[in-house]
Amino acid sequence: MLRVFNTLGRRIELFEPVRPDCVYIYVCGPTVYDYTHIGHARTYVAFDVIKRYLKLVGYNVFHVQNITDIDDKIIKRAQEEGRDWREVSETYTKDYLESLSKLNLKVDIHPRVTEHIAEIIQFIQVLLEKGHAYVAPSGSVYFDVNSYERYGELSGRNVKELWGQEQDFVKEKRNPYDFALWKAAKPGEPWWNSPWGPGRPGWHIECSTMSSRYLNELFDIHGGGSDLIFPHHENERAQSEAALGKQPWVKYWLHTGMLTVNGEKMSKSLGNIVSLKDLFTNWRPEILRLWLVTVHYRSVVDFSEEVLQQAQRNYERLTGSAQLLRDLLRKGEYTYRLSDEGIRILQKLNEIRNGFHTSMSDDFNTSKAFSYVYELTSLVYTKILEKPEATVVLRAYALMEYFNEILGVLDKQFAETPPLPFDQLVDLIVEMRKKLRQSRNYELADWIREQMLKLGVKLYDKGEETRWQLI
Ligand code: AMP
Ligand code: ZN
Repeated sequence: MLRVFNTLGRRIELFEPVRPDCVYIYVCGPTVYDYTHIGHARTYVAFDVIKRYLKLVGYNVFHVQNITDIDDKIIKRAQEEGRDWREVSETYTKDYLESLSKLNLKVDIHPRVTEHIAEIIQFIQVLLEKGHAYVAPSGSVYFDVNSYERYGELSGRNVKELWGQEQDFVKEKRNPYDFALWKAAKPGEPWWNSPWGPGRPGWHIECSTMSSRYLNELFDIHGGGSDLIFPHHENERAQSEAALGKQPWVKYWLHTGMLTVNGEKMSKSLGNIVSLKDLFTNWRPEILRLWLVTVHYRSVVDFSEEVLQQAQRNYERLTGSAQLLRDLLRKGEYTYRLSDEGIRILQKLNEIRNGFHTSMSDDFNTSKAFSYVYELTSLVYTKILEKPEATVVLRAYALMEYFNEILGVLDKQFAETPPLPFDQLVDLIVEMRKKLRQSRNYELADWIREQMLKLGVKLYDKGEETRWQLI
């Protein structure tokens, strides 16, 4: 039975989705004003693991992750760089989507704010009609926090101690902790028409609107980094429950621990923001992914060169043992008889699989779960390789492939046909054969041609040059 830590109530709860056959997840995605960094990767990988595990135990999962493509930060960036705000958000959306793909992350839908302005306006209108919002003289619309009695419950804050985030508008708010649903346009800023005049959506309203549009009125998991608990998620919850007129809106609130760099919070002023674009020039995305998969989603994680070096060693151990098993199977290097020792190993494989599930179902404890995966690699390198028996090799291979459903770093190793640079490899052999012919080693050159033919690659010599084709 799966248990999860719910930020709302701060306790471990049994996971029982609203519908027994599908889990609905909404994760707050990026504000696209800069390159995707390792902190983002931390949160996106964590929810990918959660999603993959739910799938592994048999659920369908529908995962929505928004893109905030209009926001103060985007406008500021555009003004600083003298670029159009759309160009800024397009540039970084592209970088974000490329980063997801490198990290082997898939999302079902990426709704963007600017494509949902009409729905956002409609949502705000419902809040106004129900008396949860008011229009200020500037044309901005605010959520009236006093009209929603559960405000502060999610983050555990006392409403009276809260202050609004949008300082510019603070004077026209009824209460300092009210927050903007719609921001009246300031000169030079992008705007859309609305019943309250030209303006643009506040930040929080997009997630309430888009989650209602793509998920149900009550959905299972709402996630994001723990930096979003307050005010973003507190405000989303207030808006949604007020508009829907019922609660709960979300069954489980899950938050990731923040990523720090060498013990410090990442920030522009410290100049320690590590973008994926830069990181991936020196490190394979699989290494970062592996590290992030194997740390618990709720813990604060500290990034350093050392953690990547360790992840690199672990990665080599995983790819190495997957390759060993693959080779044993491909070359038929095993015996058929199942010995007592073989049975003991099969038993151990069962324990590894059970241990993995017990840990994962304990609030997705990946750090514990993957200690079992490394037990498997140790078994491969020692016992299994020492005396390979068909059933054992097959089971170990299948178990590793099963774990890769979550790990997601061994897809190449388990591909039916590994995605080799086929043409380049054939070219290389042809080139080697050419050198052999130049040094008059015709015997070996002919042998290569015959072997290639057996593999379905026919070589045609014309003078010094050789062409090849698949037959
Ligand atoms: P942002 O673009 O800053 O709104 O962030 C997009 C997502 O990444 C949100 O779910 C954030 O909570 C998460 N995030 C941003 N920075 C970090 C960090 N340093 N550690 C963990 N998650 C982060
Ligand atoms: Zn959100």
